[in-house]
Amino acid sequence: MEPLNFFWEEAKSWDELVEKCRTLWLDPAGSTVRAWKQQHPGEKAIGCFPVYTPQELLVAAGCLPVSLFGGRGQVEIDHADSHIQSFVCSIARSTLELGLAGHIDWLDGFVVPSICDVARNLSGIWQHNFPKGFVLYLHLPQNVDSAAAGTYYRGELERLRDSLATLTGRPVSDEAVRRAIRVYNRNRALLAELFERRAARPAQWPVVHVYALAAAGNLLPRQEHNRLLERALVLGDANLCPQRDVVRVALRGAFCEQPPLELLEVLEEAGCAVVDDDLQIGARFFLAPVAEAGDPLMALADAYRHRTVLTPVNNPGRRSRSDDLLRRCQEKALQGIIFASPKFCEPALYDSVLLKRALEGAGLPVLEFEYEEKMTVFETVRMQAETFVESILFFSER
Ligand code: SF4
Repeated sequence: MEPLNFFWEEAKSWDELVEKCRTLWLDPAGSTVRAWKQQHPGEKAIGCFPVYTPQELLVAAGCLPVSLFGGRGQVEIDHADSHIQSFVCSIARSTLELGLAGHIDWLDGFVVPSICDVARNLSGIWQHNFPKGFVLYLHLPQNVDSAAAGTYYRGELERLRDSLATLTGRPVSDEAVRRAIRVYNRNRALLAELFERRAARPAQWPVVHVYALAAAGNLLPRQEHNRLLERALVLGDANLCPQRDVVRVALRGAFCEQPPLELLEVLEEAGCAVVDDDLQIGARFFLAPVAEAGDPLMALADAYRHRTVLTPVNNPGRRSRSDDLLRRCQEKALQGIIFASPKFCEPALYDSVLLKRALEGAGLPVLEFEYEEKMTVFETVRMQAETFVESILFFSER
């Protein structure tokens, strides 16, 4: 078992740091979390299903939030298929498999946000199979423009906070929530800086590298992840790479189930510089810092209603997802959009139809394909991506 050894403090180079983060990510059994629990006897590790969970409340309750992103292609489905349909997305099946097979027996609870029918079913199945465990299905507001949505969602946050207090046997103070908000604001600022640098110099900040650094945060205490990112920003600046002919693209569809890392590498090798994406978007969910003063639950509720990124699973209210994407295309000088959707993910697949129409109307090239966690053959995607890049370069030179 890997001890929690603060490897980021010792990393001498960018490559070394990235490699360690990648190893961490490709360990869905979470040996780092197991180590954390050994170092913190009696403390709780709580799983959070994507896309977004208000982890600040878990931290304020003294728990370690662990984002559960399924098996990441590392887990064989032996048990889950007898509990959940085979025609649902991989992340739901492999997350359930992690639980049923005992890979994440360190888990003390599970918070599932109301993002889709599959997530709702998963929380029910989980509760049924682990009747003694803590499971909370968090109802996120749908009509975010309604004034009642703030009070309603604050009530949901209160329900989560109070359930956690019952689980740990300790009350959760407002001040503890404010402290956690500060830590998460810092984390979001560091991630924003990392992604800005990638958008400005994609060759120097490859998509898989940036992804691995961000992904480490799913398994580490957030303060430690902040230190890791601070180190990454220093090491990344010194990681000079030659520029090459690439096209600047956005990747959409990977907001919940994550694609295999090899798929991201194939896109980059084909000449796609991914400078905008929705990978693991929950950690970057707010466009501005959450208020650090006043009622912290209302601050989280306000941020959710008015200042989130737009994904297929949170209601845009008066905003428009297609206008938002078109604006980002302009701001980031994007030359094409890739819709990479998890197989059987209805929110991603429905959304891509609407967004594609808007993009094609604006003359922006679109590439579309589906992926699964256990995907191992990437040649078709490689060929599609190479053709996509060549056609963009051809037309841009005319
Ligand atoms: S991948 Fe799609 S369908 Fe599956 S849980 Fe996530 S949002 Fe729901």
